[in-house]
Amino acid sequence: MSDIINLLPDAVANQIAAGEVIQRPASVVKELLENAIDADAKKIKLIIQDAGNTLVQVIDDGKGMSMTDARMSFERHATSKIKEADDLLSIRTMGFRGEALASIAAIAQVELKTRQEQDELGVFVEIAGSRVFKQEHIQTDKGTNLAVKSLFFNVPARRRFLKSHTTEMSHIRNEFYRVVLVHPEIHFELFEDGVETFQLLETNLKGRIENVFSTLSKKRMEQQLLPIQTDSQLLKVKGFVARPEFAQKSAHQYFFINGRYMRHPYFHKAVMVAYEQLIKPGVNPNYFIYLEVDPSFIDVNIHPSKTEIKFENERAIWSILLATVKEVLGKFQVAPSLDFDQEGAPDIPVYQYDTKITPPKVNFNPSYNPFDTAFVPKKTKVEYDWEQLYEGATSKKNMSNQYLSEFVEKQDISPTPDVETDMQKELLFEEEKKDCYQFRNSYILTSVKSGLLIIHQHRAHFRILFDKLMKQIQDKKRPSQQILFPEMLELDTNTTDRVRKILPELLYVGFDIEEFGKNVFKVNGIPAELVNISPIALLEEIIDKLSEIKIETSYLVKEKIVLLLAKKSSIQNGKSLTDIEMSELIANLFRCENHVYSPDGKSIIQLIPERDISLKFQ
Ligand code: ADP
Ligand code: MG
Repeated sequence: MSDIINLLPDAVANQIAAGEVIQRPASVVKELLENAIDADAKKIKLIIQDAGNTLVQVIDDGKGMSMTDARMSFERHATSKIKEADDLLSIRTMGFRGEALASIAAIAQVELKTRQEQDELGVFVEIAGSRVFKQEHIQTDKGTNLAVKSLFFNVPARRRFLKSHTTEMSHIRNEFYRVVLVHPEIHFELFEDGVETFQLLETNLKGRIENVFSTLSKKRMEQQLLPIQTDSQLLKVKGFVARPEFAQKSAHQYFFINGRYMRHPYFHKAVMVAYEQLIKPGVNPNYFIYLEVDPSFIDVNIHPSKTEIKFENERAIWSILLATVKEVLGKFQVAPSLDFDQEGAPDIPVYQYDTKITPPKVNFNPSYNPFDTAFVPKKTKVEYDWEQLYEGATSKKNMSNQYLSEFVEKQDISPTPDVETDMQKELLFEEEKKDCYQFRNSYILTSVKSGLLIIHQHRAHFRILFDKLMKQIQDKKRPSQQILFPEMLELDTNTTDRVRKILPELLYVGFDIEEFGKNVFKVNGIPAELVNISPIALLEEIIDKLSEIKIETSYLVKEKIVLLLAKKSSIQNGKSLTDIEMSELIANLFRCENHVYSPDGKSIIQLIPERDISLKFQ
């Protein structure tokens, strides 16, 4: 098991795209770190002098090299990692081109010390500009210690091409992050000009992200990270996305594929679509998303510095990503941030691991429809149990706790009891004050523990209907009601084509439509939730709106249709509501996971704190 490096057969060598391996000091960092990881190191130390101009050194405790391998490793296409052309498909191991060390040795002065565990003596190799100056046995630690000095010493043009120290150092740090974020099980150290800047002990994924970035930003990362996980045949997704309220101008956004960093603008879009109505324009959420796919589905044009990768099923992956991120954002958007000003707001506790889980107990009537006036026995005083309503509001928090504690168990992330804040108490409804008041037939006012709660009636109902329709879709119930006299929809040829395209989605959300002759559709039924609406006018509007937007997936088409349906048929402002209608509306609103924002991202509730009211009377 001593000599393990093989020379690549020519056929394979030719398959390997030529290209510049080493563009800047950061490229050396990347290659050396990857080699250390491939050598199964448990601890890796990276030493940088002068932003890598004078020294890039990596010391690992991995498996080391024999005398022959140590010398061979500097030959072009010397690799212990590929033997057959087929192996090229696999990017599971990180380095595999067999040209990194050869390229580095061609343009720098390199000193290698290495020893395999079973050998008593190690090897020292000194090489510069591809010429070997020294090769001898020495005493050295197990593992590999590779120092790259005076990079580009013989290529002055490249040297001049380098940017300022600050820029080159930030490239180096970026490479460092990209590697350490995939290997929380490895202990990493970074020294910059003699100063230790990172000491990353072995931990789990969440711990590693936190350790890397908590030093860089004031806000603690841990409290904003929501775990994501999806396992499908095509793709496994895991990692973390940030709570929307933590979005900032510049963000840490990382995609990894099979353990390597990648850039993927198209998948990035999927994540951003998931956040669409939850963040303000101009700010960005942090995310750390780890994808795992069968390597044969990936086209890696094996350019050494290539971080962009083509997938075979990009659209399908796009949808899975979108759904995964959306789901978690929905699930965790439970603690309403009722503060008016996000700046300086208290950190929202992610979970309390010792909280008891109580199932929601809200009394509500699922078939209630505020339009159906016949349904409501007018002027009947309802007994409404506000305490239960409150329980409903908090139980959603508990559900997220449950989800998290399950995740914690699975991932072996030790839960930390978080800062207690008043946030979850904000919504305590006052038991003795049960009345609602409707202001200008548009807003519902009610008293809660910490002040006066104002609810936008149209947006509240919009949210309720939207969630209900989406749920029916997810449960694959086709919520359709037949109409007494089927209506005909006559269109021009262009529009007919457009309708044909979205016909599956229309059927899915509850329209019962069929083509009925040239450019004519017969409408037999409409989604069950819709009342007081002309089916034809509604369909026309949907067709019109959908053609404006370039929509990527069937999931999004359905969502956009539901958005329109819910918006159209929800109570408008200006409609007078009875006491019971207001109570039901509030109860149903607080059963929605996101009762803070409407599906199009506008505020549904505002809280005027009691102290603000009393201040006005001073
Ligand atoms: P590749 O990583 O693509 O195989 P490199 O030029 O980076 O090519 O490295 C050549 C070979 O040198 C590797 O295949 C490996 O066998 C050996 N090697 C390089 N770095 C190390 C290390 N830190 N520990 C053990 N072996 C190493
Ligand atoms: Mg390598």
